[in-house]
Amino acid sequence: MKTEEKSGLGSVKRFGARYGRKLKLKFSKIEIEQRKLHKCPYCNKTAVKRMAVGIWNCKKCNAKFTGKAYSISKKIIIKEIAETAQEEPLAIKEETEEANQALEEA
Ligand SMILES: [Zn+2]
Repeated sequence: MKTEEKSGLGSVKRFGARYGRKLKLKFSKIEIEQRKLHKCPYCNKTAVKRMAVGIWNCKKCNAKFTGKAYSISKKIIIKEIAETAQEEPLAIKEETEEANQALEEA
């Protein structure tokens, strides 16, 4: 159970053992994003909550406006995709470096 908490699952635990780990990890990232308070583009306070898909409401200045379905702006999801894309080639590079070292030693 403790390892599950570290893995970034949390709200997704409600699904139990179903649907697969990778899918649930992706889903939890989006759900954390949609549930947290966002920064208001009108008054700059972090008090914007998601009312429904794409509809956001600021508790501070009462502004109701449209945005992305799970986030006010598109930025964060793009950043995550870029990070995961960078991680994979790095892992391959490390493996080849290890293989080269092994060759040099032999
Ligand atoms: Zn506001």
